[in-house]
Amino acid sequence: MRLVMLGPPGAGKGTQGERLAKRFDIPQLSTGDMLRAAVKAETPVGRAAKEVMAAGGLVGDEIVIGCVDERLCESDARNGFILDGFPRTISQAESLDKLLENNALTAVIELLVDEELLLDRVEKRARDAIARGEIPRSDDNPETMRKRLQSYRESTSALSRFYGIQGRLVSINGTRDVDVVTADILGALS
Ligand code: AMP
Repeated sequence: MRLVMLGPPGAGKGTQGERLAKRFDIPQLSTGDMLRAAVKAETPVGRAAKEVMAAGGLVGDEIVIGCVDERLCESDARNGFILDGFPRTISQAESLDKLLENNALTAVIELLVDEELLLDRVEKRARDAIARGEIPRSDDNPETMRKRLQSYRESTSALSRFYGIQGRLVSINGTRDVDVVTADILGALS
């Protein structure tokens, strides 16, 4: 099973991706997590990504594609994977197709959620992190969230059409209860 989770920030890609990863026993590969780890470890990738991420923009295609290429070569990804937050541009999607060669994506799960609800969800994610005694993500605030949504509209929403034409797009209503959304995705994949 080779899946891509597509959708704006706060749509539930991480939550649903984690559930699908457990269900199919394959790794969930989040470029956001990879980049946050690189920022924390102050690697060259992290240094290049830090400011762009804090401002809610998109990190350069070459950097992100390099991270994914490296990660897909690891042995645990051989039997499948769930990509969360990648691709985010047409150029990334084209590079992914090339990286996968003959092992094309099984499906692209697009989670549809209204923007107003997305803002509420991201604010809640920050509050929940604080309640757990953790530091919330630096980009989970209303101002950066607006920029992230703008990046999504400008660069990522075109991917629905890209994968629609390929016949791989599965659009799911992501506004409902988490379990209902998971059941819907599993139903569409079966
Ligand atoms: P996420 O955790 O997926 O919301 O990603 C957090 C931030 O990491 C994004 O707002 C971008 O700045 C950066 N990022 C993650 N994935 C990508 C990607 N595929 N292309 C460009 N930037 C990315």
